[in-house]
Amino acid sequence: VKAQGRNNFQFFDPEMQSTAQERMELEKGLHLALENNEFELWYQPQVNDADQIIGAEALLRWRHPQNGVIYPGDFIGIAEESGQIVEIGNWVLKRAINQLSDWHQQGLPESFNRLAVNISPLQFMQVDFVDRLVEMLNEKNIPGRLVELEITENMLLNNFSIASNKMKLLKQRGISFAIDDFGTGYSSLRYLRDLPLDILKIDRSFVSGLRASSELAAIVEVIIATADRLDLTVIAEGVETLNERSALMELGCHCFQGYLFSKPMIPDVFYAKLQAPSHS
Ligand code: C2E
Ligand code: CA
Ligand code: CA
Ligand code: CA
Repeated sequence: VKAQGRNNFQFFDPEMQSTAQERMELEKGLHLALENNEFELWYQPQVNDADQIIGAEALLRWRHPQNGVIYPGDFIGIAEESGQIVEIGNWVLKRAINQLSDWHQQGLPESFNRLAVNISPLQFMQVDFVDRLVEMLNEKNIPGRLVELEITENMLLNNFSIASNKMKLLKQRGISFAIDDFGTGYSSLRYLRDLPLDILKIDRSFVSGLRASSELAAIVEVIIATADRLDLTVIAEGVETLNERSALMELGCHCFQGYLFSKPMIPDVFYAKLQAPSHS
C-alpha cells in the first residue's frame, strides 16, 4: 500500500513493508467499515467540450470514525489481496445503483449519460457477478444504459474469454464498458479489437505534461485516432489545466474528467451541480 501524501493519516510507513500485524489491523478495520456503514461514494463529473456533465465516476471513500476520510489508494490493494474487495465491491455497486435510482426519480438532465463504477478483477470474476448486477438493476428498475463499468487491462490478462463473455452478457442489458488507465497496464491492442468496449479512458500520466512533450502528444494522438476508428469514446482523466484541455482537444479528445472541472463530491453537492444551469 502506497502512501498518497494527501491523507493526514497513513496505515503504513511508506518506506517500509507493512507488517503482518498492520495488515491484520487494516483487514479488521475494513470488516468493521462494512459492518458499521463507514464507506461512501463520491462523484466526479465527466464533461464534454461544451462543459456539460455527460456522466460521473463513483469513487470510494472510507469515513473512519477516528482518522477521517481515507482514500482508496490506502486500502484497495490490501482489500484485493485479502479478498475483501468482493464484498466491498458489491457494496459499491449497490450504493451506486441506489443512488442512481434516487437521481433517476428526482430527474437527471438530458446530457447525463451514465454513472461509471470501478470494478476489481476479483469482483468481476465471481461466478455470480452478472446475475447479481442484473438483479440489482431489476430491483430498482434502472435501465442498464445508465451504468458503465470501468475495468483495467490487467484484469483481462489471465481470463480473457471469461471476461469477454461476461461483458457480452452485460452489454445485452445495455451496460457499457470503459477500459480504465489505458496504456499503463499490460496493454494489448487486441483488447480494443476483441472486447465489446465503449469507452477508453486515457490515464492521467499521458495527460499531464502533454504540452511539454511531443512524444507524449504523438502517443496520445495515436490512441485517440485508434479509438475513433473503433468507435470508442475517449475520456481523458486527470485534466488539471486549461492548457491540458486545449492540447487534448487539438488531438481530438472531447470528453474530460479532472480537477479542472471538479474534484469528487459528496452526493448532494454533485446532484446540485448537475442541476445547475451552467457547469463552468
Ligand atoms: P481511478 O479509477 O483511475 O480514479 C481516478 C483517480 O484520480 C481518483 O482517485 C480521482 O479522485 C483522481 N483524480 C481525478 N481527477 C484528478 C486530477 O485532475 N488530478 C489528480 N491528481 N487526480 C485526479 P481516488 O478516488 O483516490 O481513487 C484512486 C483509485 O482507487 C482509482 O483510480 C481506482 O483504481 C480505485 N478505486 C476508487 N474507487 C473504487 C471502487 O469503488 N472500487 C474499486 N475496485 N476501486 C476503486
Ligand atoms: Ca476509474
Ligand atoms: Ca483511471
Ligand atoms: Ca488511474
